[in-house]
Amino acid sequence: MSVKIILTEPNKLLRLVSEPVEKVDKEYRRLMDDMIETMYAAPGIGLAAIQIGVPKRIIVMDISRDENKKEPMYFVNPVVNKKNSEKAIYEEGCLSVPDQFAEIARPSKCEVEYLDYNGKKQLLKAEGLLATCIQHEMDHLEGILFIDYLSKLKKSIIIKKLSKAKTNRIVV
Ligand code: ZN
Repeated sequence: MSVKIILTEPNKLLRLVSEPVEKVDKEYRRLMDDMIETMYAAPGIGLAAIQIGVPKRIIVMDISRDENKKEPMYFVNPVVNKKNSEKAIYEEGCLSVPDQFAEIARPSKCEVEYLDYNGKKQLLKAEGLLATCIQHEMDHLEGILFIDYLSKLKKSIIIKKLSKAKTNRIVV
């Protein structure tokens, strides 16, 4: 397993629509291992493959927020079957949009069909933080970031800040 570099906005790769996984094999399991390690190291509670530059429909998450009791979740080719019309608001952040947060409204419940780490079909009935998190991550698979839900002005201020932060960044 190894920790990968997380891409940050603005980066064109983050805007790609990810491709479905044909078969969950050893190589994809290795990718999921790298993703979960990268997510824990960040630290974050969710990561999509495209955030480390791989345009495949794979997500890892752990919303347990407990160092001692890790509960990693793996989603391959996730599809939303149902979602609630009722919305829930969370203050969201994103490993690809560092240090920026905004309140985003999303369906409060959803049902997601996916393949797990072993390629087995699963159904997740999510609500609360889990529902928000999986929807945030699934947006990444479509090249969508949470800042896309903000007004044009707010979004451009954030992107400007991030671009500036990048220009001033040095590694010595
Ligand atoms: Zn994100």
